Amino acid sequence: MTTAAALLERGVFVDGTVQPIAGETLTITNPGTGETVGRVTRAGAEAVDAAVRSAHAAFAEWSRRGYADRGAILRAGSEALRDRVDELIPGLVAEQGKTIREARIELRKAAETLEHYAGLAKEVRAAYVHGLDPGVDGRVLRRPLGVVAAIVPWNFPTTLLSNKLGPALVCGNTVVAKPADTTPFTTLRLAEILTEAGLPPGVLNVVTGTGPEAGEALVTHPLTRKVAFTGSTPTGERVMALAARGTKRVTLELGGSDPMIICDDADLAKAASAASMGRFYNCGQACLAIKRVYVFASVADDVIEAIVAKASRLRVGIGTDERAQLGPMHSERQRQIMEDQIARTLHRGGEIVAGGGRPGDERLARGWFHEPTVVVDPPHDSPMAQEEVFGPALPIWRVRDFDEAIRLANDSPFGLGSSVWTASLDRAERAAAEIDAGYTWVNSPTKVYDELPFGGVGGSGYGKEHGSEALDYYTDQKAVVVRRAITAP
Ligand code: NAD
Repeated sequence: MTTAAALLERGVFVDGTVQPIAGETLTITNPGTGETVGRVTRAGAEAVDAAVRSAHAAFAEWSRRGYADRGAILRAGSEALRDRVDELIPGLVAEQGKTIREARIELRKAAETLEHYAGLAKEVRAAYVHGLDPGVDGRVLRRPLGVVAAIVPWNFPTTLLSNKLGPALVCGNTVVAKPADTTPFTTLRLAEILTEAGLPPGVLNVVTGTGPEAGEALVTHPLTRKVAFTGSTPTGERVMALAARGTKRVTLELGGSDPMIICDDADLAKAASAASMGRFYNCGQACLAIKRVYVFASVADDVIEAIVAKASRLRVGIGTDERAQLGPMHSERQRQIMEDQIARTLHRGGEIVAGGGRPGDERLARGWFHEPTVVVDPPHDSPMAQEEVFGPALPIWRVRDFDEAIRLANDSPFGLGSSVWTASLDRAERAAAEIDAGYTWVNSPTKVYDELPFGGVGGSGYGKEHGSEALDYYTDQKAVVVRRAITAP
């Protein structure tokens, strides 16, 4: 896949088929090796219009089907995806950079989420009110919205899309997906696989291209009724502003800077493992990741030592290396942004206790690698505390007590995830009640469950994915009043 002979050339996916590559193109680069993976169509307004019209044309028939029917097609799609995981792994590793293990976990999770919503299809209920007035009953219908734009970033191209596809499709919407301009290939294959498994042509289309061109054309298209967006906070704000024209629905899953509080009564070894896993998984490029640790001063040295030991042991390597635990960052730009954040932070204070630079290994010189890095006690108004660090670098602060930990945890523009490690029920309950975030884990690694609603507050966004709650964001509720001709006695 990364050799010249296997270069991929693909166009947009419209009406159930990948179109021939056409017009201007984007070149896709392997973040681990710097080699060219292939080229895709750089879709402009015209290609986006064709995709949205295809989704709009498919809506009438798709939305008329029963929930169980749509759920069965989604289930077949999830099974087909699960069967193809091994086939998809090399492509995802090549375009995204992540390790084989991470690619496998991501693809399986994408299939699992589709399956979850296939199951929920038979559970969707609406409301009925008997006796609003004598002889008068009320119903609350759930109606699909129409064409949904699903815009996702490059860090988890398939799971972030299936979080949207599951509820959108089950509820009867049709979708135009836009992957990041650097990770189009797995998404195109996913659309083909779901279509082969029974999704009618037009129900899912994929436009490849840049955010300012394809993304904005999709958001502003008059037939787009909802934008389900995952990405950075500044882009989310722009998308929300653009969606105001036409009063389109918007859900925004944006950046995060999740705090983790480790108390003196916690299982320190488990907490250190969760911090390392939560920060360095996917090379630190996850919205939901441990991005700030607050540890009680009395146990801080032990915890810092344990986290540093874990970080230093991580094997940095190209994604295709079966032994690699930490792949490259996704792009040169992402690495530059993080290196700049670390430098600006250290300029203000704090101490590097692990990593801090690029690995010396010559074999990694052509990729965007960075050592797992730990910084202790930087000022709390420095970039590593106040900005989102989207890479393998973790700041840790020593705190006096629980009150200080909560105060600093909330001293951030973001509010996505959070976690607390303690043996005290009182502290756990306080963290759940007082941390401004969409999720709080107690003594648990930061695993996301399909069963629970997920979505941030503040700069982390608006609306929910996952859970049955997601269905509310892909349907309109309509009130119907029925007056019976014959009034019951
Ligand atoms: P980004 O905002 O630059 O891009 C995300 C997507 O939006 C891409 O497909 C991009 O092409 C598109 N886009 C860019 N400009 C656009 C515009 N003007 N109009 C419409 N679409 C546009 O984000 P990124 O840097 O690629 O991704 C990383 C960010 O995503 C991080 O901030 C991360 O925290 C966030 N993220 C959030 C979640 C979540 O669920 N909350 C999950 C994963 C990533």
